[in-house]
Amino acid sequence: MPLFAVIAVDAVLNSCAENDVFDYIIPDELKGAVEIGMRVIVPFSGRMLEGYVIDIKDSTDVAQDKLKAIKSIPNPSHIFDYKQISLAKWMSKEYLCSITECLKCIMPSEMVMKESKYVMVVGGKSADLSDLKYDDKKMLDIIKSHGGCIKVNDILKLLGRNAQKTITRLVKSKVLAIKSNMAQEVSAKKIKGIDLNLDYDSAASQADSFEKKSSKLLQGKALRLIMSLEKPFPERKLVEEYKVSRSTINTLVKKGILKSVEIEVSRDPYGNRKFSPYAKPTLTDEQRNVLNTILTGYYGYGKRNFLIHGVTGSGKTEVYMRLAEHMIEKGKQTIVLVPEIALTPQTIERFKGRFERVAVLHSRLSAGERYDEWMRIKRGEVDVVVGARSAVFAPVSNLGAIIIDEEHETSYKSDKTPKYHARDIAQKRCEIEDAILVLGSATPCIETYYNANNKKYIKCNMFHRIYERSLPDIRVADMRQEIDSGNMTIFSRMLYSELKNVLRKKQQAILFLNRRGYSTFVSCRKCGSVMKCPRCDVSLTYHADRNVLNCHYCGYTANIPKVCPICGSKYIKYFGIGTQKVENEVMRFFPEARVLRMDMDTTSRKGAHGSIYRAFKNHEADILIGTQMVSKGLDFPGVTLVGIIAADLSINIPDFRSGERTFQLITQVSGRAGRGSEPGKVIIQTYNPKHYSILASLHQDYNEFFEKEISMRKTFEYPPFSDIVNIVASSKNENEAIKVMNDITAKLKQKIEGNGFDANVLGPTQAPISKINTYYRWQTIIKGRVDDALKKCVKSIIDETYPKSGSVKINLDINPVSLA
Ligand code: ADP
Ligand code: ZN
Ligand code: ZN
Repeated sequence: MPLFAVIAVDAVLNSCAENDVFDYIIPDELKGAVEIGMRVIVPFSGRMLEGYVIDIKDSTDVAQDKLKAIKSIPNPSHIFDYKQISLAKWMSKEYLCSITECLKCIMPSEMVMKESKYVMVVGGKSADLSDLKYDDKKMLDIIKSHGGCIKVNDILKLLGRNAQKTITRLVKSKVLAIKSNMAQEVSAKKIKGIDLNLDYDSAASQADSFEKKSSKLLQGKALRLIMSLEKPFPERKLVEEYKVSRSTINTLVKKGILKSVEIEVSRDPYGNRKFSPYAKPTLTDEQRNVLNTILTGYYGYGKRNFLIHGVTGSGKTEVYMRLAEHMIEKGKQTIVLVPEIALTPQTIERFKGRFERVAVLHSRLSAGERYDEWMRIKRGEVDVVVGARSAVFAPVSNLGAIIIDEEHETSYKSDKTPKYHARDIAQKRCEIEDAILVLGSATPCIETYYNANNKKYIKCNMFHRIYERSLPDIRVADMRQEIDSGNMTIFSRMLYSELKNVLRKKQQAILFLNRRGYSTFVSCRKCGSVMKCPRCDVSLTYHADRNVLNCHYCGYTANIPKVCPICGSKYIKYFGIGTQKVENEVMRFFPEARVLRMDMDTTSRKGAHGSIYRAFKNHEADILIGTQMVSKGLDFPGVTLVGIIAADLSINIPDFRSGERTFQLITQVSGRAGRGSEPGKVIIQTYNPKHYSILASLHQDYNEFFEKEISMRKTFEYPPFSDIVNIVASSKNENEAIKVMNDITAKLKQKIEGNGFDANVLGPTQAPISKINTYYRWQTIIKGRVDDALKKCVKSIIDETYPKSGSVKINLDINPVSLA
């Protein structure tokens, strides 16, 4: 009976298509070799493509004459196991994208195969070579020197683009042929190694006989040495460290006693570094309690999901490490996710300094290094994986736990299709693989905390800092009062005098400015009120081109009022300030200060980030002005003051999460002050001193913040009380984007609203970022209960409305982290 494989084929389809799965015949010569999770090469509309076996079965509905057979199995072929295949199937439903897209997201991009063209000599003898031109001969010589076959691109690189004509001519006259091959871009690195070519006893008697002749003593010595070493042994090491001469090796190879082989080696990014041991402290009571709660919860009560809510500096990392240690004892692996920005040398040193077998995965590794780390994990040579978002897919075979540090960070959400959230993937993976999920944060994401309150996570608290170090002293400067008393500068009197103090005492300060929200909202500088959408409770966005205010959720549009609707003042203006401006003002008011700036402009050059960091740490500057980049992970013991220039920039981002972001940001930025022996001060400047996120940050009270925020979410039906689907159409032709979005929205409204679905369709409206890279963007939002039925409905509408030949791209985001 013929066997069939169900294969997800990597055909380039649009992101909304699900039909990337096809049946193929398993040909006789591959019977028994094809397994679920394997990568194969298959014919697909006249091309050869990479595909992944997601199922094997013994019958098919596809007609005989339509069926094609698997062509071959490339190397390496065992990329996935059945657990990863089930994860991909789940992702494809969850995020409405193809299985191939999900599988490609699970495997490292370096493994994806590309088609390359080779040119080879075929007419060596039979073809008439007598009248070849000089160029032709040169080309043939090069190809022959490469073993008769070379990549077309490589020979063009050697001989120049014009050589293409020569190739074409020689192919025509059947001297050369072109063949194509699918290959991975990156593969294992190989070095030359030496192995015995005889069995051990024969080698020993050879050595005996060498040792009897004084002229062969060296050969005998070398042979004995090689017999005693691990095999195969790197040739270079033999020569350089063991001082065996190359000529001796060559002689032994010629005699057939040794042989030359290739050894695969790992490109270990940290291979040359020694990590000093990271000492294991005695756990505090809180740390011990948390660890107990997790282990008893899992082993005793079958609980799997945990949230550690612990203030900054409470020693969460130590708990993670003890959990990983526990897993090693059980023969299991642990994945530790940290935000990319926190993958500082410090984090890596801690884990490498504590554990023997650690892999590190982040975006600064070279393609080869990333590939090798992945293969090391796959081969089971690693106990702990530390990495950024995509490390959630690390191919460990016996998963014990996934830990997500700073779980509220938005960088855990992918910005490419499939737009997954590492937290969701981790939760599903732990469910499939029966592992423990631990989330950690000082300011958990609202949805996470809500879920914890509803027993979806077991909550573990850590209220105390290690050594009971105090949290910084936080104050608010009311910028409305500054204006009332005639201070029109960007510094409140409080911030001004504290900065003067810092400079006098030769300490350091950080001035923080939110990068996002630049000039996008309109507010009254007298009373602080911000123009908001009456329907959505988010700030209206100012569009300079049309001079209107617009709601990006529902499309509500308004003109800019002449006077403040609340207090009648005429000081209505859009809010705009950038880091450059702050720098100029600092230099104007504090000419004695040495200033550094860390933002997109000053860090675009490679290495600039690090050099600004070191310069400030070495106290080569007194004031560091920066955006989000300065808010996390940086440890400057000399900093005693942090000034938040305009908290309003964060509060008024037109996004229902702006309050949450503000609270998280202030908590995080505040953590930069007072890390040394001197206590720290934080000054928050705002026109909204009574905003709940500001008040709660002042009190450093997460629960106070949570209660306010969750009741607002409930009133306006935002997550966790609803889901949000964001559909964006983008096109170089704005009218086409609008037309497609109009069509989709009309159908969505007709099918969803009042049809048993508990959801609303809002839009279409211009997207908050209305143009990216010459593409105009329009969007529609679905808000409500987004279940599988609704997702299916959305998908089918997009698939049928989406003009495949047209110029419009449709992008779907389910529960986006930001709508601004
Ligand atoms: P968090 O991750 O909660 O912000 P860290 O893990 O960075 O906190 O811990 C803060 C500091 O306390 C670190 O320098 C860490 O080495 C130290 N630390 C952690 N646990 C202990 C302990 N039990 N005893 C002494 N020092 C500890
Ligand atoms: Zn006002
Ligand atoms: Zn609105």
